[in-house]
Amino acid sequence: MNKYNLCKLFSINKETEDAILEVEGSLLSNFESIDLIKEFNQLKIIKAMQESNLNYSNFYWNTGYGYNDPGREKVEEIYAKVFNTEDALVRPNIVSGTHALYLTLSAITEYGDTILSISGKPYDTLLTVLGVEGNEANSLKSQGIAYKEVSLKNKRDFDYDRIFDTIDQTTKVIMIQRSTGYSDRKAIIIDKMGECISKIKVRHPNIIIMVDNCYGEFMEVLEPSDVGADLVVGSLIKNPGGGIALTGGYICGKARLINMIANRLTAPGIGKEVGLTFGLTRTTLQGLYLAPSAVSESLKGSLLIAYLFKGLGFQVIPDLDDQRSDIIQSVVFNSKKLLIKFCQGVQKSSPVDSQAFTEPWAMPGYTNEIIMASGAFVQGSSIEISADAPMREPYTAFFQGGLTYTQCKLAAAITYEDIKKEVE
Ligand SMILES: *Cc1c(COP(=O)(O)O)cnc(C)c1O
Repeated sequence: MNKYNLCKLFSINKETEDAILEVEGSLLSNFESIDLIKEFNQLKIIKAMQESNLNYSNFYWNTGYGYNDPGREKVEEIYAKVFNTEDALVRPNIVSGTHALYLTLSAITEYGDTILSISGKPYDTLLTVLGVEGNEANSLKSQGIAYKEVSLKNKRDFDYDRIFDTIDQTTKVIMIQRSTGYSDRKAIIIDKMGECISKIKVRHPNIIIMVDNCYGEFMEVLEPSDVGADLVVGSLIKNPGGGIALTGGYICGKARLINMIANRLTAPGIGKEVGLTFGLTRTTLQGLYLAPSAVSESLKGSLLIAYLFKGLGFQVIPDLDDQRSDIIQSVVFNSKKLLIKFCQGVQKSSPVDSQAFTEPWAMPGYTNEIIMASGAFVQGSSIEISADAPMREPYTAFFQGGLTYTQCKLAAAITYEDIKKEVE
């Protein structure tokens, strides 16, 4: 069998494919550890589905109010089991991760409360939600909810002295973002998160700890809710949707809090009892079922990109030996031109819209222009192969996703070859 498949089908240079084959050889043991985590999470999900007695009739759906939709209830039961929480809210009418986070924060805070982020500046869209940037109606700030933040020390460790100095009577919620977002810090590994949550809970048992879990799901064998987080929140068109879920967000956590959030999503007294699933139950669950595979494939792709671009002399975050807790691989290009070239290469490698030409644009909710490479089956799905970047120094590309490792390998080959030409 000729191993030069990229050369044969995509006119990639033999030299490029040799470079990839060499890197793959050195990644074998990393790939093995990734497979073990995948196996555990896959079994955990199957077990949750079996224990919830998921059956085919759950895939039918209702109309109108959507009372007694057993599928909707099963989805939430299964999510609660997988994330090891008392309850869950998983709905197609939660339109994105940002929506899930806003819904959560606005439901559990009131006038005079403070939200404290202890992992530094949160994801770009949350700045508008919190009211740190812009002046949008119904931002949390406009509702009298204050925001404070403590950065990570050395871009990786919780700064306990400052955290405990900053907490006061008004601190209602502590927010931890697991993933790096559009920043140059490390993702927070579960061990470290658990240690931090325990320390806070000992001194402040009533503060609600909410984790923005976007991009982190199924990266490790435990989730933030396994180590004490009161709420975990994320998007179904990222990791837990496995590339199959068409839309939706999830919030898993303490029953008392989920009830408050459901009352905000629908109405007080109605809560979780209504809401159509529009026939999406099957894809939501099939996506969850496939999620550990999707996460492991994309993680292998991230490692390949990291090794190749480090080899070309670029800084990569996480670095080769860093322990990972999100699927994001950043490459720091220090050049607008190279950054755009990289994103365009990812676009060219995609199964959908491969002929599209991607350029920076002013996306709603973001302050900098953003370039996005996304050739996905589901619009904006970033568990599918994607690369994006805000147009600001140091011109860092955030690469993530890839439902199959082969897809990532094609993207790696095209981008590596394009960028190598530029830097030589
Ligand atoms: C993607 C993301 C969000 C927002 O999710 P959207 O679905 O894009 O609104 C929030 N936080 C983090 C860390 C993310 O990666």
